[in-house]
Amino acid sequence: MKRRELFQALAAATAGATLLGRDAFDQPDPGAGRRGAGTTFSTQVRRLELRHTWTTTMSSSAYRDTLHAQYRRDGITGYGEGAGIVRYQQSALGGQKALEAVQSLITSADPWCFEKLLAGLDRRLPGQRAALAAVDLALMDWMGKRLGVPIYRHFGLDPADTPITTMSIGMDTPEVTRQKVREAEAFPFLKIKVGLASDEATLDAVRSVTKKPLRVDANEGWTSKEEAVRKINWLESQGVQLIEQPLPAHLIEEARWVRSRVHIPIFADEACHSADEIPKLREAFDGIVIKLDKAGGLIEAYRQITVAKALGMKTMIGCMVSSSCTITAAAHLSPLVDYADLDGHLLIANDPFMGVTVEKGKLMLSDAPGLGIRPAPGAKG
Ligand code: MG
Repeated sequence: MKRRELFQALAAATAGATLLGRDAFDQPDPGAGRRGAGTTFSTQVRRLELRHTWTTTMSSSAYRDTLHAQYRRDGITGYGEGAGIVRYQQSALGGQKALEAVQSLITSADPWCFEKLLAGLDRRLPGQRAALAAVDLALMDWMGKRLGVPIYRHFGLDPADTPITTMSIGMDTPEVTRQKVREAEAFPFLKIKVGLASDEATLDAVRSVTKKPLRVDANEGWTSKEEAVRKINWLESQGVQLIEQPLPAHLIEEARWVRSRVHIPIFADEACHSADEIPKLREAFDGIVIKLDKAGGLIEAYRQITVAKALGMKTMIGCMVSSSCTITAAAHLSPLVDYADLDGHLLIANDPFMGVTVEKGKLMLSDAPGLGIRPAPGAKG
């Protein structure tokens, strides 16, 4: 072999080794790429029936439709869900339509490069973070099952560190409020929806049944900073530990004014959608509320939690009305946060999945791979 041919042969061998190395890193199973040829992605809108009509300052309904996704590859199915948020003009059907337009992108992409895939989808689907969450969850569930590990392991978390979740009491008549509080007897903390003229009657009804610590959510219900201060100080006297979003989301300076005049922590929910917004909220809020549907899935939610913690802010993981698919996914990240409000699956009567369980308020995760959920017996579709 001539010297030049020897160099060429060595170069080819080195290139082959590099490619082999990269394949081995990106795709632990060398056959995965070939088998990925049969990858499918499908969506379905499911109607979740509420146990009680659910009322907040924003809406009232007897059911909620959420968007469900299935990502299938190598004989493994990953399940995902996203609950469209009315405030952001999202719906399950709108999200489904948006995902139909990017279906081939999802099935042709390398799922191990999920960061790139999800970032690309986020750019192509502006205003569809709930639909994006359905994709993110399905990919994470698939990945965990493919690797044989629960998702909390992927994030390096200990399932023993899950917090105690609140149980939410939606707005209702004093009589129904008392009934709901009794039904929530097993939960050490309750979350009460406020922000209406009837707040005093609501709190009176709750306090006639229980002395438990309360957390409240005003959902932007108070329009003036003076009213917010007055209400928050009164709520503190009623045993309220913290409050979510007392003022409309855009009133950041007013929120800062309120924060300097009350004692209990104030959390930004509607004012916080993505990690890059968190630094500007630091002076006005003590913490942020992270939701998978609002963030666009586990990856962005994890980013928001880590950014908030780095800024010294408190974190709460919350939810929309959802099945055990989303709630279990959120529970996988919950060992990272200070507070959990993950009760969306407990508010519905026809949960299509079984996953995280709740024991005296404590979120209990199994060691099953992926999200660790399975279809509920008798669930359709
Ligand atoms: Mg909230």
